[in-house]
Amino acid sequence: MIVMKFGGSSFQNVAAWQRVLSIIRGRESRRPVVVVSALAGITNELDAVASHAAAGEKMEAQQRFERIASTHFEFCEILQLGKDVRQQIGLRMREFRMCLESVMTLGELTLRTRDQILAYGELLSSVLLAAYLRQNRLNARLVDSRELVVTNDAFSAAVPRFRLSRLRSQNSLFPLLEQKAIPVLPGFIGATKTGLTTTLGRGGSDYSASLFAGWLNAEEVEVWKDVPGFMTADPLVVADAQRIPHLSYREAEQLCRFGAKILHPLAVRYASQKRLAIRVLYTRDVENPGTHIFTKGTVPAPHVIGIASHKPSGRVTVIGEGLRKPMVAARILNSCGGMDILRVSQNSLRSRMILVMMKEDTDRAIRQIHEGVKSLL
Ligand code: ASP
Ligand code: MG
Repeated sequence: MIVMKFGGSSFQNVAAWQRVLSIIRGRESRRPVVVVSALAGITNELDAVASHAAAGEKMEAQQRFERIASTHFEFCEILQLGKDVRQQIGLRMREFRMCLESVMTLGELTLRTRDQILAYGELLSSVLLAAYLRQNRLNARLVDSRELVVTNDAFSAAVPRFRLSRLRSQNSLFPLLEQKAIPVLPGFIGATKTGLTTTLGRGGSDYSASLFAGWLNAEEVEVWKDVPGFMTADPLVVADAQRIPHLSYREAEQLCRFGAKILHPLAVRYASQKRLAIRVLYTRDVENPGTHIFTKGTVPAPHVIGIASHKPSGRVTVIGEGLRKPMVAARILNSCGGMDILRVSQNSLRSRMILVMMKEDTDRAIRQIHEGVKSLL
């Protein structure tokens, strides 16, 4: 079996929903388990509603609440999901409203309550996806991840209890897979042993996907995105950034940790512990091989793997085994000639170089470095 994860941007419009449907349909024989995150922008929106409610800004909270509701109800309409599904969404929205009202009354927002609120993104999107698949004759079954993923009570960055969660996941999902059903699970969320909703940290539905894959001994995890995989640099900054076909776990984790917003670093770390392959695939082009993350084996290590960046801190990070060669490091520094580099550091293995500069300079630096190391990529 495989685990397939879809992010919020996979559901922007009807065409996008149809693409997701045909991708899942194409994998039916591989017995997929589907993990879904909130619709695009919804988690941020929920976070804002919660803050406005806590600050007593009733109007703002109300407006955003309505927007969240209408986004989901509109998809019920457009996808023609029917009355039942509208009722399910309505029920979730009522629970959510009650939660908000108590935040408003108390005028405070604990991390515990915030997790409960943020969870609605995935709770709502998973209702829509399961219903949409069923409507299109796939035997999808919605399962509430909070019944499977048991975590500690570190709200907003909860840590799973691995053995218990594995047991629960296997007990609940193996029978469904045996019946040839397709479980649909909300990512990002779990619950404490006493049933309080928790979240695994922002961007955490990738982590959920990795966890389920590990617990269910999946062949691999497919993470479907609206980009063709990991790229040698941010394609919005570098026009000729290339797709990276293979990455080791370590390389992938480093790129994520230093700013590539492709996967949650914990998703990569957990997959690495389990020797579980991750494929980052492109929803707009099913044939595109994307990025395969695994132990590299016979694939020759390129000199330079890619460039990640974190603009707010003016940090540009170059990753690759080739950086051990002084001439490669020199080439990177030379590419930044004429720029004010405030600090340069390398890790002890010298497979990573971090350059710190003014944040206005980062885009230019990325372009120049990419150009400078192009022949080594
Ligand atoms: N919806 C959550 C977030 O935006 C989790 C995720 O997208 O992976 O952080
Ligand atoms: Mg999200």
